[in-house]
Formats: sequence, C-alpha cells, structure tokens
Amino acid sequence: MAKWVFAFGGGSAEGGAGDRNLLGGKGANLAEMCSLGLPVPPGFTITTELCTHYYANDRTYPEELEAEVDRALAKVGEVTGRRFGDPDNLLLVSVRSGARASMPGMMDTVLNLGLNDETVEALARDSGDRRFAYDSYRRFIQMYCDVVMGLDHENFEEILEDGKAGLGYEFDTDLSAEDWSRIVDLYKAKVLEELDTPFPQDPREQLWGAIGAVFSSWMNHRAITYRRLHNIPESWGTAVNVQAMVFGNMGDDSATGVAFTRNPSTGEKKLYGEFLVNAQGEDVVAGIRTPQSLTEEARVAAGSDKPSLQKVLPDAFADFVRIADTLEGHYRDMQDLEFTIERGKLWMLQTRAGKRTAKAALKIAVEMAEEGLITREEAVARIDPASLDQLLHPTIDPEASRDVIGIGLPASPGAATGEIVFSSDEAEELKAHGRKVILVRVETSPEDIHGMHAAEGILTTRGGMTSHAAVVARGMGKPCVSGTGSLRVDYKKQTMQALGRTFNKGDVITIDGANGQVLAGAVAMLQPELSGDFASIMEWADAIRQMKVRTNAETPADARMARSFGAEGIGLCRTEHMFFDDDRIVAVREMILADTEEGRRAALAKLLPMQRSDFVELFEIMAGMPVTIRLLDPPLHEFLPKGEEEIAEVAAAMGVPADTLRQRTESLHELNPMLGHRGCRLAISYPEIAEMQARAIFEAAVEAGQRTGRPAEPEIMVPLVGVIEEFEFVKARIDQVAKAVMEESGVEIAYLCGTMIELPRAALRAGDIAASAAFFSFGTNDLTQTAFGISRDDAALFLEAYRQKGIIEQDPFVTLDIDGVGELVRIGVERGRQARPDIKLGICGEHGGDPASIGFCAELGLDYVSCSPFRVPIARLAAAQAAVAKG
Ligand code: ADP
Ligand code: MG
Ligand code: MG
Repeated sequence: MAKWVFAFGGGSAEGGAGDRNLLGGKGANLAEMCSLGLPVPPGFTITTELCTHYYANDRTYPEELEAEVDRALAKVGEVTGRRFGDPDNLLLVSVRSGARASMPGMMDTVLNLGLNDETVEALARDSGDRRFAYDSYRRFIQMYCDVVMGLDHENFEEILEDGKAGLGYEFDTDLSAEDWSRIVDLYKAKVLEELDTPFPQDPREQLWGAIGAVFSSWMNHRAITYRRLHNIPESWGTAVNVQAMVFGNMGDDSATGVAFTRNPSTGEKKLYGEFLVNAQGEDVVAGIRTPQSLTEEARVAAGSDKPSLQKVLPDAFADFVRIADTLEGHYRDMQDLEFTIERGKLWMLQTRAGKRTAKAALKIAVEMAEEGLITREEAVARIDPASLDQLLHPTIDPEASRDVIGIGLPASPGAATGEIVFSSDEAEELKAHGRKVILVRVETSPEDIHGMHAAEGILTTRGGMTSHAAVVARGMGKPCVSGTGSLRVDYKKQTMQALGRTFNKGDVITIDGANGQVLAGAVAMLQPELSGDFASIMEWADAIRQMKVRTNAETPADARMARSFGAEGIGLCRTEHMFFDDDRIVAVREMILADTEEGRRAALAKLLPMQRSDFVELFEIMAGMPVTIRLLDPPLHEFLPKGEEEIAEVAAAMGVPADTLRQRTESLHELNPMLGHRGCRLAISYPEIAEMQARAIFEAAVEAGQRTGRPAEPEIMVPLVGVIEEFEFVKARIDQVAKAVMEESGVEIAYLCGTMIELPRAALRAGDIAASAAFFSFGTNDLTQTAFGISRDDAALFLEAYRQKGIIEQDPFVTLDIDGVGELVRIGVERGRQARPDIKLGICGEHGGDPASIGFCAELGLDYVSCSPFRVPIARLAAAQAAVAKG
C-alpha cells in the first residue's frame, strides 16, 4: 500500500532532498533541513501522489489517509509537547502547498490553523499576550476564508482599514488586544453575512478544509496559467505540508524574514534579505511596512535609519548566518531562505535554490567554481542558455540626459522603454499589435503574469525587493523598478502623477532596473559588455563543447556582431537578402523578367560586381573560417515588381514596353510559390544565375585571401535538392566556374560544394546525395514545413489552437519536432555518413539557436549549428551543456 504521509521534525525525517518529486520542493527541503539538525518546526508532508489520486478519484481521498494524518499529527504533538485541538495544550499548524517545481505565489498558505473562540483564549493565556493571540486569530480567519471558503481578503481589509481610520491609527501594530478582538467579531459577522454559514470552529474541520483547498488550488486559474507559461505538467501535482506554528508576531523580540545567501540581482557574495519585527508570514513580501535590512552593512548602504537584524537580534542573526552558510555549502548553490524568530529563537521555514538574474547566475556559478564548491562543468550546466538573452540587451547610455520623474528600487536589471499601460490585459493587447509597453501598477499579483510577460518592463509604486513584481520580473529577465513611492497611480483616471507632472496612458517612459530610476520619454541605450563572468563561462563552455557554432548572416554588420559573440564562421548566407537593396533590385527584376538567356546575362553582369564585393567583405570578416553561401533560393514572386510604378521602372531599364513586362510578370505568377519555382529549380531553369553567383564567390575568395593572407573557405550550398540529379547538374556548373576562376587568377581555391537537406525525399535519399555532396546542412525550417505539410507563414492561425487543445506541446518551428522531423534528420545523417564518412554536417534552421534542439544535434554528432548572431552565445552554452549531458 502506498505511503501518503511523510513526517519530519525533532532532528530526523522520513524523506529528504532527493524526494522532491514525491514531497514537492518545500517538503523535501524541510525534511532535509531536519536531518541536518537545523531548527525546523516539526510537521509532515502529504505526497504529490495523493494529489494525483485525488484528481483521479473524483476529488476524494483514499480511506487510510485520515489515520495516517492522525498518526503524523500525534508525532508532531510528541515533538512539541502539545496536542492539536487541545485548548489545554495548544498546537497550531500551518498548511502549506509545495509542488515539485517552485510556483511562487500560486498556492496560498494558511497560518495559525486550529484557532477558534476557545483556543484563542488559550493562546492568550499560554503566551501571556492577548494582543498577539487576537492578531493571530484575525489573520487566520482572513487567510482561511480567502483560501478555503472563497471569501476575498478585500472584505476583511476594508473592515481593518475602517477600524484603524476610526481609531486614528496608521499601523496594524498600533491596535490593542481589545481592538483586535473587536475586529475578530466583525470578521466573523462578515463571514456569516457573506457566506450564510459561521466561521468553522472545529480544528479538524479547519485542517481538512485547508488540505482540500491546497489540493484544489492545483487546478485554479492562476496555477494553470503558471504551469502553461513554465511548461510544468499537470500530472506532477502538489504536496501539502502541515507544520507546527512558530510565531514572529509575539512582540519586539520576534520577527519574520526572507533572505538569499548571495545577492540575487548582482550575484555578489553577501547575505541579502529583509525582515520585519513583530510580523508573520508574508508580511515582508506583502509590503505592509517597509522591511528592514538583515546586516548593518546593507542598512548603511541603503541609507536606512531602521535597525538591522544584526543590531536588534544579534544572537538569532548569528545563528542565521551560520545556517545560511551551512545550507549553501550543503546544497552547493545559492539558497533562498524563509525564517521566523519567536522570542529570540530562530526557526527555519524554507530553503530552496534561489531565483536569480542571468547576471547573478553567471557571477555565482563562476565564483562557486573558483571557490571549489562546484566544477566548471557544473558551473556551465547551471546557466540557463536562454537567460543569456538578458545580458545581450541594452542598458541606458551613461552619457544620455535623464529626465528623472521618480526613483524606486532596482528590482530587476536592464532598461526598457515603452508606452504606459495600467492593466495587464491592456499590456497583452498592445503587445499583440506590436507595441512596446511598460506595465505600471501599484503592485502586481499572480493575476498579472500575462501582462508582465507582454510588457518590456514593470514599474510598481509599492513593494520591496522581494515583492511579487520584483521576484517574478527577475525570473522573467524583465527590467523592473518597484516601490516607487513618489509616483501616484490612478487606475480610474488612467494617469500617473510624478513630481507634479501628469503622465497618461500611452505616454512613453523608460525604466532603469540598474538604479531604480523612472525617466520621461525614450532614452539612448548602450550595447552590453561581454566580458568578466560572461567571458569566463563562455570560455569554459568552449573548452567543453564538441560542436562548432556558426552564424546565419548576410550583412557585414551581422557578421561582425556574430564574431564578437564568438561565431566560428557563417553557416548560412542567404544571397537573396543581398538583392533587395534599392540600387540592385531593378537589375534583379531585369534578370527575372528577361525572356532570353542573353537578356538575363546582361542583367547578371550588372549584379556580378555587387555580389563579389558583398562576399569579399564577409570573407574578410570571417578570415580563415568557413563561410557557407547558399545559391539563390526564394520563390521568384518575392522579387517581382508590384504596381504600375515598379513595372514602369524596370521596363525603362530594359527598354521594353510596360505592357510586355506586365504580361511577363503575370505569367510568372504561381499558385503555391513555397512549393514552386524556387531553390535549385531556378538554377536548373537558368544556370547562368548559379554561374554568376559562383563566379562572384570564387573571385571574392581570391581577392579576400590575398588581402587577409588567410585563404577564404567558401562552401557553396545548393538549396532545395530532392533528387541527386538536381544537385549534380548545378554542381557541374559550379565546378566549371571554379576551374575557370582558378585558371584566370592562378590561385588555388579550397572550396566545398554541398546541399541543404530540407525536403523529406532528400533526407531519405541522403545516401545518393552524399556520394557527390561534400556537406549537408539541415534546413529545418523547410524540412518542418514539408514534413508536416504546414506552411510556416500560415501556421500562427491554427497552431495556437493546437497548443491550447493539447494537440501539440510546442511550436515545431521553434523547437525541433524530434520524433518526426528529427527522425528525418537522423536518417539523413546516418545515410549520408554511410556514403561519405567524412561528410560535414550542420544545421541552419531557426532550431540552430534553440537549446533543446541543439541538444538533439549534439546527440547526432553534427559538426556545427548555425544561428542568428544574438543566439550565438546561447548556442555555445547549449552545445557545452549537451556535451556535459552526453558525458
Ligand atoms: P510560499 O510557498 O508562498 O512561499 P509558504 O508555505 O512558504 O508559502 O508560507 C509563506 C510564509 O508563511 C512562510 O515564509 C512563513 O513566513 C510563514 N509560515 C509558513 N508556515 C509557518 C509555520 N509553521 N510557522 C510560522 N510561519 C510559517
Ligand atoms: Mg506565497
Ligand atoms: Mg515560502
């Protein structure tokens, strides 16, 4: 029979950190901390398997669960010397959710469970503090109603605010025991009024209500959205943790706080966190009062006059520093900690690997490797390749003039400019129309996740460095400025007041996540610096990886940028992109529309010098590295003149009547250009096009080789080959031109002639093709289109519906469909290698920059991946991680 309940406490535990799947992250780590002998209030975890059972059985529990829970509760009683529900020996508990992957803010926690009209008096007696007892009771009613009974917390906040206003108080801490007791009465009356049922007094009923609420919350809207955004499977389920309460709200020698063992924004190796005296649970995160710094050093740096934990509770602080150190060393990673101090005694309530910015992740990984805590392989494996994107983004130019309209907390780094919007729905809507927005909120909540995703940056007027907005923005890698108290947001009027100025929805502002500034208008930005920790990780990654990383580039600017990001050659140069320039397009159109070979050759002669100079520059930038150039590929309609004006222009250049040209244009119209006259089909109809391009390439290779002193390595690539005869026909022309240029110049050119594998037939017949092709480059964009029979340009219309209905999990144009398209690639690789063991293999579709797809390429042992310049560092890291995973 399955074991549903795992106990922890009193220096030992039934589970441990390795049981994350079964106990959830929180439960597994609570158990681990217990086994390490750290001060953790005892408790037990109901497994994620129970959650699965619950949903598989119409939301019911297995019969034996109740007895297991009772046994575990009794054990908690033994460790604490108390008994749940016993007013003479009161044991209160918290009920906390905890899934396998951390889902911050998704599931709510109920504290102080077990309180009722009778036990609250017992708590007052036990603690000698009535004020504390009633404060705890009112918190419990509010949380329990919100989470379990579906009565919104705003109902209670209103009562509390009215009560405070009536008494002329500012802070919750101003209320006396009698005030709180009156508030409790009002709360209970509210419950009766709104729900037609009294607040439950039976602790057992409360407990099972809370357990059920946690399991049900797995399917609430917020949780479902979060899972969808983070690709967390529904089948994982959540665990429930029931744990003896400790109290941070027992007066001035009590406190609650959160901390990171290193700075989660910068990675600096310093304890970093916030706490509040006489507070409970998420008070710190909710920002009810301005939280205080943990260390004196941080307090001074923040310029705060509120004392640090180090100062107010030095013994508990010293314990905490020691424990933080132990935990970091034990988990060998930066930890995110939650703690409570009850009358001077420290209790640990949570530890987990801390979320961090990309910048911090790099610094922490590099420093831990240098400290000898982890290996270089581990350091490299710890960086999420996609997160490097954050570092490649611009920051504000220090020279730019700044029109500062507010200063908040630098909650998540990076700078962003956009139009002000005040709601998440609006952010999403504008983003869908290609607009850039800054989401401006008093504070954010889990309901704002979609808006935060859509926004370039997030600005809040309330909340600290550990507020929801700050934590989530850091996770997303979005710039965020939080707690900008001088700004006033009016949702009704849709305005923001800043230092006497009014900003409306749609006004452009800039936020600087590096220093917390809010600026009016757009501001000049700078490209990022790729040195320091970034360079170290990249260097280590390069030493580990086996695959080369090239770039897709056709312009000198892209090629240079890619080189600075570490590209080792060009994997795809799309020559058609060079044809759209204003001074070329007319000649290109002449070439296409000429109806004789002679006419085409005349137009091609005009293009030759331009093409040659393009290639000279690329060869020079990539001196000594391979450059793969693809012959003209696109459907010709992309080049056809549109409208009378363009037709007239080309007609004049060619010296033919506009009417004739119009007819010729119409005759070239295709019903399905993607599958029409494109790729090598063009070179077969018009070999002179391929010949001109080959000549431009070879002449450029000679010229660039002479200039740089390093021979260029052109790799000429024939697109859209389906049958070997196509390839051989084109290759024969290329070889002929090569021979001619070598004779004319007297220079030997080491070139390769190969093909794209982008049609299923080519993958299947890779054996034949490899007999004459020196290399394959898998063009996985077209291969995905042709394997699925889905046009990429039309896919957006229905792929989203496919995703929502669970037909497909991921867009196959973003992440390679390994089962299908990947199978074709695998076949191509195997058959190609069989025919030509030293065949060069690469990939040049969008997938070449997608970490998951790169892993698959490494598995197949491809020689290189090629991707857009900005993805080069991502690919370098992903290729290294693939090598680490391969072992
Ligand atoms: P989350 O998953 O949202 O972080 P938690 O379960 O960690 O929620 O609970 C939030 C906070 O509630 C904790 O950080 C802690 O301050 C408080 N808390 C939870 N359980 C207890 C307990 N047994 N005693 C005291 N405080 C608790
Ligand atoms: Mg929470
Ligand atoms: Mg927590």
